[in-house]
Order: sequence, then C-alpha cells, then structure tokens
Amino acid sequence: MTENKILLASANVLDVYQGESRLQHDVYIEGNTIKEVCPHGQLSFGEDVEVVDCTGKTIMPGLMDCHVHLCMDPACADPAVIAAKSDADLTIDAINHMDALLKNGITYVRGMGDPRNIDIVLSQAKKEGKIDGPDILPCGKLICMTGGHGWQLGDEVDSPDEMRKAVRKLLKAGAGHIKMMATGGVMTRGVKTTSTQLTYEELKAGIEEAEHAGIKTATHAQGNAGIRNAVRAGIHSVEHGFYLDEEIVSWMIEKGTFYVPTLVAVYEILNQKDSLPSYLVEKAEVAKDAHRASFQLALKSGVKIALGTDAGTPFNQFGSARDEFLYMIEAGMSPVQAVRSATCIAAQLLDVEDRFGSIAPGKAADLLILQNCIYDEPGTIKAPFVVYKGGKRYV
Ligand SMILES: [Zn+2]
Repeated sequence: MTENKILLASANVLDVYQGESRLQHDVYIEGNTIKEVCPHGQLSFGEDVEVVDCTGKTIMPGLMDCHVHLCMDPACADPAVIAAKSDADLTIDAINHMDALLKNGITYVRGMGDPRNIDIVLSQAKKEGKIDGPDILPCGKLICMTGGHGWQLGDEVDSPDEMRKAVRKLLKAGAGHIKMMATGGVMTRGVKTTSTQLTYEELKAGIEEAEHAGIKTATHAQGNAGIRNAVRAGIHSVEHGFYLDEEIVSWMIEKGTFYVPTLVAVYEILNQKDSLPSYLVEKAEVAKDAHRASFQLALKSGVKIALGTDAGTPFNQFGSARDEFLYMIEAGMSPVQAVRSATCIAAQLLDVEDRFGSIAPGKAADLLILQNCIYDEPGTIKAPFVVYKGGKRYV
C-alpha cells in the first residue's frame, strides 16, 4: 500500500517553542509523519499528493491531556460503580472515550488510574493499529494506602515493601508510568483533600522502583503536607496541587517537577453542584480559591505546567482539554504559555518530545487546523476544527 501524501498549504503554522506563528507555510506529510515545513510555494510535488488549502487557517500540534481516566464516566460520581463493571464494559466505555478525545483534538493522553489495567491494553492496541484514538501513556491501577483516595481504582499498600511489590506488578503488566496517592481527594466519601495518605517512605520506595525501570511517577496530591512528602521524595509530577506554597514551588523548580493543575475538574463540580452529593461539592468549594492561588504561584515562579483535565470525573467530559486551556488563560497564563502547556511541555512530561508536541520534520502528523490564530484568539479552541492523527483526518 502506498503511503498517503498530504500537503497542508498556505497556513499559519505555530512554532510552539518560539511562541510564533509562521505565516503562509506549507506542512508536507507522508504516512504518519511530517516531512517538511517551509514557506508556501517552495515545495515541488507530484500528482499523488493531496493538497489541502489552508489559507487563513492556523495549524497547531494536537492537544495532549496529561490526566485522564479512560474507564470512568463523567455521568457517574461513584467510583465503586465504575469498579463494579465488567472488563468488557469498561473497555467499550474507554474506546468510546478515546473516540471523543480524538474528535476534540486530543491526540495524546496520560492514563491516571484504571480499575483493571485496561488502559495498558488499549495503549498497546493503539500502537499496533488495532484501534483508533489518542496515543496513551498508561499507568494501569493507581497505588494508594488501604482505604485511601481512589482505592476503588487501585492497589492498596501499607509499607515501603508493599509499595515496591505493587510497582513491580504494574511494571510487569506494562505500565508506562506510576501514579501514587499522597493525599485524600474530592471524590472519596469520608476522606479530606488535605489528609496525608501514602507516607514519604512509601512514596520514596515507589519512585525508586519506577526509576530503576526508567519510568516516571505522578502523584495525586492536594493537601500541603502530602505534596511536600511527594516532592521531597522526588516525584516527577504533582497533580491538582491545591495547597502549594513558596517552599514547595522552589523545590519543584530545583528538581524539575511538573505541575498538572486540572482546574476544570473543580469547576465542573461547582458548575453542576445541584446534581452531585454534598460531600463532593463542599470539598470542591473549600479548595477552589486555594487551587487558583496555587496555580498562579506556580505560574509566576516558573514551574513547568502541563495541561491535564481529570476527564472522567463528574461532568468532566472527554474533550475538556479545550476548556482547561481557556481556564488556564483566565487564571493568568498567556495564550503562548497555554499552548506550550498543552503541547511541548506535556510531551516533555510524557517523555515523547522527540516525536510529539510540535510541528517539524520527523514529528508525528498529529495536527489541528484551526479557524483563527490561537495566539490572537484563544477562544478559537472552542470552535470546530479539523483533526489529523498520525496523518489521517478524523474530523
Ligand atoms: Zn484523576
């Protein structure tokens, strides 16, 4: 079979590193890869090339969502209901969610907790071309303390040795990164977001095991003491981070720790408070202002912030990266920073920067064709756009 050859002609092409839009450029794609990016009209090409006129349009890299739960359901606030589903049902749901993500321009995701390692299987199936959807960096089950936040989706451990065992089991299953729960969270009844959960020693053991295998670790961490434990222990990314402070942020900069704020997760709970259990809404209310202040502190201090949504949590749809992008701008990011957060910085966190997150020869042809320049009009992210994944058009 001959490879597809596509010329996206005369577009404004984003250079996410420079924060510039290169006017009237062509992007030439062969198979699943970008082969050339150059000023319009410079390339000569044969009749077998499909030419797509993109005059006036902007091309950006596909969005990367660093925090999704493929098997969860935005219409279900109870993780126990998710965990009780059969593997077949969870897989069907997850494949539908992958479809929604791709149609919303999300071409790469990081799985952040899955009751039965379904995301590991789907990641492999995607790589082998058996299914469509975003590429996935899967974690399989998350790891928490007994009864800790997210226990319905995880393995429960209560010592550094048990932690080592849990990480080794996930590595054996094929996890691409490890998620550990340093604090309580919003969705677990009877657990405070500020309560410390896995200990420093347990986190440290988990990080060591992951590093032996050459993979990264992430922590769900909302309360201050738990975030401290995780960052001190050497975690690679802090998720949510409701209660950061100056000292933690200085450690994050020193160690190169990423921050994945997931602002949309809290906003969606507050937007729909009448249809959710009160314990959940109350916790989101309490956290909201601190969360925003933490985001702003991290931003002004220069912490690497990668876009993530927590898609799958209540009312948080697969595709909410488009909303998170705007929430981050509303909370203080420039459009250039928000684009980086959703592309090259996310790719750095996922260790795929050599192939994803920017537009250049040799990179994957994961592209969005937007109606307007996203740097000038960030709201264009909410308007309909064209999606290419691996050189194939989906929307
Ligand atoms: Zn999550």
